[in-house]
Amino acid sequence: MPSAPLRSFLAGLLAASVALPAFAFNDPSAGVPPDDALLLLRDGNRRFVAGESVHFQQDARRRRETAANGQKPFAIVLTCSDSRVPPELLFDQGIGCLFVIRVAGNVAQTDEVATVEYGVGHLGARLIVVLGHTKCGAVTAVVDEAHVGPNLAQLVKPIVPAADRARSDNPGLSGAPLVAAAIRANVEQAMEDLRRLSPEIAAAVSFGRTRLVGALYDIETGEVTWLERTTPPPAADPHEAATADPHTAPAPSPAAPAHH
Ligand SMILES: [Zn+2]
Repeated sequence: MPSAPLRSFLAGLLAASVALPAFAFNDPSAGVPPDDALLLLRDGNRRFVAGESVHFQQDARRRRETAANGQKPFAIVLTCSDSRVPPELLFDQGIGCLFVIRVAGNVAQTDEVATVEYGVGHLGARLIVVLGHTKCGAVTAVVDEAHVGPNLAQLVKPIVPAADRARSDNPGLSGAPLVAAAIRANVEQAMEDLRRLSPEIAAAVSFGRTRLVGALYDIETGEVTWLERTTPPPAADPHEAATADPHTAPAPSPAAPAHH
């Protein structure tokens, strides 16, 4: 349920029948509530897919305003460096709206985790999105066990358990379908790594101040699909039960126990 200010803002937009995008109110003190932030991203992607992007807040006025008043992004996006996955475009957002971390394979290691911590702790963003994408070269390289140099090998190391899990969860799968399964598993892996490597992020998620969601971007259709976690992470941390995300973790079931 959107907050009262957002509801009244959206109601005002509807009443005025103005073709403005969702994010225009400015109440940075509390940060945009996670569900509202998610709504803004969903709406923006819907516009993008429909070819109705409004390119809001990308002008000189917005540039000056954010330079003078500082940045207050409403969402953090950890995604791949792939040039076909531009977050501000695919979510139809402007300057100062998204705090973006891009790295091959959208992995979450020390630098990425620290950057997310900065977005949560210092900038007050309350939604963290891990965004994987179709035909990801980094994930494909890991699934194919391609030979890469030492730096790249280090970079894609966190993808290895995701690829292994995709294989074990989908016996007999190979080629593009296996890569697709690994891409999804890799989003879940990065989400788990964010919480495992950062007590700060884990606590913010656990207390409901911050929401952590996974998503997949289709580089052909432009559509973002939001993921719900269906299985526990492969190497469950003993503290996992305390850091489970009530928003993305389904109710415990015999097949997918949330506490173990
Ligand atoms: Zn990629």
